[in-house]
Amino acid sequence: MADKAVPVNGMIQEIKKGKTILTAEPFAFVLSEQHRKERCDQCFKSSKISRCAGCQYVYYCGRNCQRKAWAIHKIECPNIKRIHPRVLPDAARMMARIIIKLSQNGREERGYYTPTKYRVFDDLMSHVIDIKEDMKKMEHFTSLSMVLLEFLPNDILPDVKELLAIFGRMSVNSFNILDTDMTSLGVGIYLGPSIIDHNCKPNATAVFEGTTLMIRTLHDLPALDWSQIHITYIDVLKDMETRRAELRKSYYFLCECERCNTPETIEIAAACPNKTCTYPCQSTDSHCPKCCEEFPEGFKECFDEVCELSVYHLEKMAHTACKHLDAARMCLTKQEGILHPYNLLVVRMLEMALAATMDLERWEDAEVYASQLTGRYLFYFGETHPMTGQVHFVQAKLFSFQKKGRLALESITKAAQLIKISFGEDHSKIKNEIKPLLDQLLAEYHYGKNGF
Ligand SMILES: [Zn+2]
Ligand SMILES: [Zn+2]
Ligand SMILES: [Zn+2]
Ligand SMILES: [Zn+2]
Repeated sequence: MADKAVPVNGMIQEIKKGKTILTAEPFAFVLSEQHRKERCDQCFKSSKISRCAGCQYVYYCGRNCQRKAWAIHKIECPNIKRIHPRVLPDAARMMARIIIKLSQNGREERGYYTPTKYRVFDDLMSHVIDIKEDMKKMEHFTSLSMVLLEFLPNDILPDVKELLAIFGRMSVNSFNILDTDMTSLGVGIYLGPSIIDHNCKPNATAVFEGTTLMIRTLHDLPALDWSQIHITYIDVLKDMETRRAELRKSYYFLCECERCNTPETIEIAAACPNKTCTYPCQSTDSHCPKCCEEFPEGFKECFDEVCELSVYHLEKMAHTACKHLDAARMCLTKQEGILHPYNLLVVRMLEMALAATMDLERWEDAEVYASQLTGRYLFYFGETHPMTGQVHFVQAKLFSFQKKGRLALESITKAAQLIKISFGEDHSKIKNEIKPLLDQLLAEYHYGKNGF
């Protein structure tokens, strides 16, 4: 999919970690319905917003954004009003916006990924053949088509064949647009960055400033060679079988990356029955390869049961906005002594428990989960990944809420150092989130308040 690097003046330029190698504006994008009433539909900022007088549905932070949005929204606006009180599902709205854009010379728009190389919308993979064989996807497509048929003006609605190609391009190439805390705010199509292939151990990642996407390097790279630069299309905190299944289901390929071909056993490891041994055992072992402690009878069945239970609850919680602390706690208790502490099911359960305690504003409990995640994120994501910086930042906030000044200052210092690499020194996250907390803690330190 990607092009080889072309040496500039005969020199291949080495690229350091924490560098932006590509910046792109979305070709089309949509703010998720769940954020509609709190954020600007155009820039995604959560400042003071007011409703569009036409549709009374979308909100903008001001005239500037409303003006920018108008080219696309002028087609949406009367139709959103017309179908009221029904609302467009996010996927239908995204597809409608792509169709509107294409009707306004969108096919000519170029997304550059080198000074001379670019992609246009029709260059994106559509996987139409795979989608046609995929019952579930076809069902989704059919229901989307019905919605669009009713929503869009007839003169811009493409025929079924073209509609399916657009649906395919949208499904396979959409990026989640992430907030500075790495939660999803909406989706977007970015033409240039769509050149980047997947890897379960990526060397680059996307961060956002509003809806502007930046591809940043996670490691030092020998050259800017797009065939060697990889991001991840899925949540990497899953075992090889789950990742491969997800990639096949959503992106129609078998992942043959190094991490998939030679999986780290720790990802699915069992805890050694000897409590003082930290070796990542396998559930099929009869004894620990390191300390030789024997597994009790029926261990494998017990291990499988705990894994199944964990997967069941993780999936259930992934589909609901509110995370269930009781279920997460129950699973964590069952996992103890059976699953290795770095087993990915433990890591993901800790994430759920952290999200749940944050929602409930139970800072003391949340701090315990955040602290357990910092080491695990360092292990799985590495220092330069935005998720690692973010969890350190959360930990710092939690310490601060509980007036544990010294610990908070330690964490925020680490978070600042990590986030400068992952987001970049100029990112608004530094100015708007990191610096205010750092300043507050330094002031508290100066006056000997709140745990100093
Ligand atoms: Zn705005
Ligand atoms: Zn409107
Ligand atoms: Zn892989
Ligand atoms: Zn052992």
